[in-house]
Amino acid sequence: MALASHMREARRVIHELASMGPDGPPFVSLYLNTKWSDEHQRERARLFLQRRARDLRDEWRGRPDGEDAARSLDSTMQWMTRYIIEQGDPAESRWDGFALFVSGGRDLWVAFRARVPIENELEIERQPRLLQIAKVMADHSPAFVVLLDGRWVRIFEVALGAVLVEVDLEQYLPDRVDSGDRGPFAKRFSTRVGPAALARGDGLSQMRFQRHIRDHLEHNLKTAAELLERLSGHEGRAPVVVCGENELRGLFRRLVSGALRGRIAHESKLDSKAPRHQVVDMAVRALNEATHQQRSQEIDSVLGRALGSGTSAVLGTEDTMLALNQSRLHTLYLDDSSGVGQGWRCMSCAAFGHKAETGCPFCRGRTTTVDLLQEMTRRALFNETRVITVSGHPRLRHYRGMAGTLRRGLSPPSPRVGYATHEPLPPT
Ligand SMILES: [Zn+2]
Repeated sequence: MALASHMREARRVIHELASMGPDGPPFVSLYLNTKWSDEHQRERARLFLQRRARDLRDEWRGRPDGEDAARSLDSTMQWMTRYIIEQGDPAESRWDGFALFVSGGRDLWVAFRARVPIENELEIERQPRLLQIAKVMADHSPAFVVLLDGRWVRIFEVALGAVLVEVDLEQYLPDRVDSGDRGPFAKRFSTRVGPAALARGDGLSQMRFQRHIRDHLEHNLKTAAELLERLSGHEGRAPVVVCGENELRGLFRRLVSGALRGRIAHESKLDSKAPRHQVVDMAVRALNEATHQQRSQEIDSVLGRALGSGTSAVLGTEDTMLALNQSRLHTLYLDDSSGVGQGWRCMSCAAFGHKAETGCPFCRGRTTTVDLLQEMTRRALFNETRVITVSGHPRLRHYRGMAGTLRRGLSPPSPRVGYATHEPLPPT
């Protein structure tokens, strides 16, 4: 499972980025949409980079670590410009977007590629901007696609719109009766076997043969189900897409555990020999839709819970930020269209909040101005809180676009006003 650790590795790197304090050398954060359908779009991306880089150079010129910032920017630009130039036909771009984090002063250079939409963004700040990457990770957390055939099983682990792991398993399925008799019925099974075909045919030997095949088929599908359970065990909540003929899917559904059955997000007739890119495209499309609906329902249910007993969830700016400051959140829900704006962050205890403060109300330390959505995302990623972002959720907007669920066994923060942090400081 070497490749499965890829996703874990990505999460680890993002956690590391989230733990970079505001005191160190500057960071370049670049998000670039590279889903170009023609030369004009590619040219627009090039222009965006040039203009934004020029503005940033002006902004950082003369500052104490301006040279450091310029060096990181040069390295970012060189790499990205090369990508833009070297990429052949824009219509054939395999990647829809890049996220790049560069800090020469910290000796850090990290790139993520994804086949998901990304908005252009180029900034130099003391800390990396992680909102978009958190969104990409949450929207495209690992999913599993299983392609069924009578004897073939292909299982893909898909994340960030690309295949991380592919496992192919070929199993035995009898294509002739034991006597060696090869009728036209048997021949049909030699290439492709489905239970629908099993229903055809008559005569005792064929009935016995049918049972024989069905036993093998069930055995094969059971093995496939077990393999899927094992492969997806490390991603307990990951959705599953099942592909194959109707009857095979039905049989498979009956054979998997209840927990896995509950994770089936989509079913498709996609052929088991479909090329990889087709599998990925289908999965990404199906999962986007399923995820979107699921998110909306999840938020509705959280809002309902918060308004009901009020014990396991928090709503709105004050309570959500306080719970986040205290590392109490299991999941953070953010509406990125809420326009929550700027806030402060304490330079010594790392607490943050949204009201203008001249000093940290908790430790009286010096504060700095931060983009609140970015700061909340960073804190959540640092706390290993799950981050779910949506845009324009009708009910979440009433609570200034934020809510959260508490970690198991925790009750809402008390007192319910003010800010505090009991967590050790992020390493700087
Ligand atoms: Zn403080």
